[in-house]
Amino acid sequence: MPTNHSRRSFLQTLSLGVGSTLVTSSILANKNLPLVKNQKKLGIALVGLGSYAKNQLAVALTQADNCYLAGIVTGTSSKAEEWAKKYNIPQKNIYNYQNFDQIANNKDIDIVYIVLPNSMHHEFVLRAAKAGKHVMCEKPMSVSVKQAEEMIKACKEAGVQLGIGYRLHFEPFTKEVMRLSQQKVLGDVHFVQTNFGFNIGDPAQWRLKKELAGGGPLMDVGIYCVQASRYVTGEEPLWVTAQFGPVTDKERFTTVEESISWQMQFPGNAMVNGFSSYKSNIEQLYVSANNGWIQLSPAYSYGPLKGRTNQGEMNQPVVHHQTVMLQAICKEFIETNTFPSHTSGEEGLRDMRILMGIYEAARTGKKINLV
Ligand code: NAD
Repeated sequence: MPTNHSRRSFLQTLSLGVGSTLVTSSILANKNLPLVKNQKKLGIALVGLGSYAKNQLAVALTQADNCYLAGIVTGTSSKAEEWAKKYNIPQKNIYNYQNFDQIANNKDIDIVYIVLPNSMHHEFVLRAAKAGKHVMCEKPMSVSVKQAEEMIKACKEAGVQLGIGYRLHFEPFTKEVMRLSQQKVLGDVHFVQTNFGFNIGDPAQWRLKKELAGGGPLMDVGIYCVQASRYVTGEEPLWVTAQFGPVTDKERFTTVEESISWQMQFPGNAMVNGFSSYKSNIEQLYVSANNGWIQLSPAYSYGPLKGRTNQGEMNQPVVHHQTVMLQAICKEFIETNTFPSHTSGEEGLRDMRILMGIYEAARTGKKINLV
């Protein structure tokens, strides 16, 4: 249930929006302005203007019709200038990492969206919550279970919503896999193979530094495999065993793993094999059930995704993942004042516990209980 605080701030921003309907029709034609007739468009501020923010989320924010890019937070003044011009962002809605907390006083911003390196998510979610803003945060939500718990607590105490950018929950092929497997359309699922890896480029990037990334491919893309095993089975894993792969590039992989494999058992007896790598280009989900199978490949990247079952091709619409995600999240928020529960901070925390369990299993060689 929304708290009084979050309901109050939502109503405040709603009334602000409705009050602004007096603006002229030529201004209303601009997609970056907050109103469509009497309906409030939620103002989103992106924190961190790297490749995901620039190439995906900013695009989504020009395509969704219930939210828009209202503000930016960046440490680079040239980016601030470029983005302000491109997206018609007023100077008063542009922040840097030092003065970010002043966003508390900015009524244009309903939701702050954290798109920084993984280890920075914790700090900025806490600061956004303190500023009284609802928060979306990129995956993985944090670099430890403790951080994830603190992020959830901070948002609860501040009365703000916390969501994790699990875009595939809104993607049609993935939703169809969830339906087929969770509703046992092909019978009980007994085996899942899930692999996601790519050949990483620039050796200087933050993804190869444990202090910024929290780990290697498991944190970055293996998390999609963990998610997949949970949304295919609709269950939480009982235990995990895992192994690090060999380090073949000793200069690049000094602090994070180059690849990792794991095995998990689920309560309905489904077994899952997972693999994630910064060396192999691989992206696949295979679900084996009593009366058939499902395969997605590509399964996790921006698409178009492609799928087959034992009954033939899967026909699903090809969508821009980030647009349908933001559209759905904002729709639910406008209607209920809450973010969707299936992409909540608690969901992110469940993944963090499993990711840390996989690392512990690989490090110790032991079978780690997850319940
Ligand atoms: P990126 O390197 O392209 O961008 C990172 C941004 O953070 C840059 O603007 C950089 O200037 C800024 N930054 C601030 N402090 C920094 C520091 N100390 N070191 C490095 N950069 C710093 O990364 P990205 O690919 O945009 O990833 C950002 C987040 O988004 C990550 O958490 C990542 O996992 C997530 N992501 C999610 C998806 C998805 O499909 N959901 C896809 C890509 C990335």
